Amino acid sequence: SAKKAGRGQYRFFDQSLNVSDVEEFHLEQAFVEALRNREFVLHYQPQVCLETMEIIGYEALVRWQHPGFGLLYPDRFIPVAEKTGFVVALGMEVVRLACAQISDWKQKHGTSKPVAVNVSPIQLAQPQFCKDVLSTVSEYGLTTDLLELEITETAMLEGRAVESLHCLKAAGIRLSLDDFGTGYAGFAHLEAVPVDKLKIDRSLINRISNSHDDSPIVSSTIILAKRMALKVVAEGVETREQLVHLKVAGCDIAQGYHLGRPMPAEKIPEFLRTFAEEEARA
Ligand code: C2E
Ligand code: MG
Ligand code: MG
Ligand code: MG
Repeated sequence: SAKKAGRGQYRFFDQSLNVSDVEEFHLEQAFVEALRNREFVLHYQPQVCLETMEIIGYEALVRWQHPGFGLLYPDRFIPVAEKTGFVVALGMEVVRLACAQISDWKQKHGTSKPVAVNVSPIQLAQPQFCKDVLSTVSEYGLTTDLLELEITETAMLEGRAVESLHCLKAAGIRLSLDDFGTGYAGFAHLEAVPVDKLKIDRSLINRISNSHDDSPIVSSTIILAKRMALKVVAEGVETREQLVHLKVAGCDIAQGYHLGRPMPAEKIPEFLRTFAEEEARA
């Protein structure tokens, strides 16, 4: 059991996940404690405009700086946080951290690039979600155009979630459909939700190889998205070839290791210097 494994040695760090009630109780405690100890941190990954090669914003990705296990990635704890309902509290912590960062950038530079935050379907189904996000944004003295929310296709199936989306959208929060191409919903659902951007999943971008093998799925997704007046973001861009292909295909924005890895905010100034130099050489 989780208890036998010793303090901090929770079974949820196994890949095979089967959380019992007892373990759920311990997990809930561990999560609450981690939140109190401010162990959740955000890393920021730049998003680049393909026309100008300028950084137009950042996606915030949560990590758990665990005192015993080191830096834990979201795939290890988000599924459990969703199962236990903790993702609701965690999600608001993520919104607060992102708002604090934006506010810090505004103080330092007079302005800030928008930050995109990932949202779980469980958060969207909360009746007070929209209200909570909007009051956090205003507590930090920010305008709603600086925060963006990334949602997944599955999130759109719930009626309450659609209400949350309309409320957020009406307040000026931009919405982006994440991991597009991995679900089964497709374009039919796009008309029902007020999204501004579509993020083509990494698995589709992967298919763009260095041979002149163009990916018909990627190029037709870009065309369709544009017909629906959506901005298109390519996720997981790892090579120059992919970047060139995407630019030719009319993709608006790119994100991926080729352009910049997710990093703590304090690493960004150094990253920006190198990025500008590489641009100058290119
Ligand atoms: P996502 O939102 O689709 O985020 C993109 C993931 O791909 C991130 O993984 C990012 O580090 C990774 N990535 C970016 N560029 C590349 C690339 O060029 N190659 C490869 N191989 N990977 C790349 P990460 O940070 O481990 O996050 C995984 C997922 O966890 C996210 O997928 C998102 O669904 C979820 N997540 C992250 N932060 C949060 C959060 O605050 N709340 C919730 N509910 N979910 C989150
Ligand atoms: Mg995302
Ligand atoms: Mg994604
Ligand atoms: Mg994902």
